[in-house]
Amino acid sequence: MCRHAEILNYESAIAKVVNDVHIREFQEMMHRLYFHRDFARGVKGTYEWLTDEIKELGEAIEEGSSREAIEREFADVIAWLASLANITGIDLESAAVNKYNYKCPKCQQAPCNCNF
Ligand SMILES: [Zn+2]
Repeated sequence: MCRHAEILNYESAIAKVVNDVHIREFQEMMHRLYFHRDFARGVKGTYEWLTDEIKELGEAIEEGSSREAIEREFADVIAWLASLANITGIDLESAAVNKYNYKCPKCQQAPCNCNF
């Protein structure tokens, strides 16, 4: 195998590892990293962090921040959402897929055909 093909294989292996992290694995990752702190802070404080991060995401988009900066804000939002789910005992992946199972939960259509 030539060097270039080795590098491409390595990069695709890394991409596969990243792509194999589903919502549930990400939530478990946040649990391992932060559950002790999230639990001690409690639901109210963690919810307030989440709303602050959502506000920061909105500001980053509105201010025309770099794609990398906006990605970091998205990462913070999903991390705090996962933290809140962890301390409320919610499985984010099940909750999301059960509600949005390839169709709009209101009109039951794909794509959505609601009038709003
Ligand atoms: Zn709909």
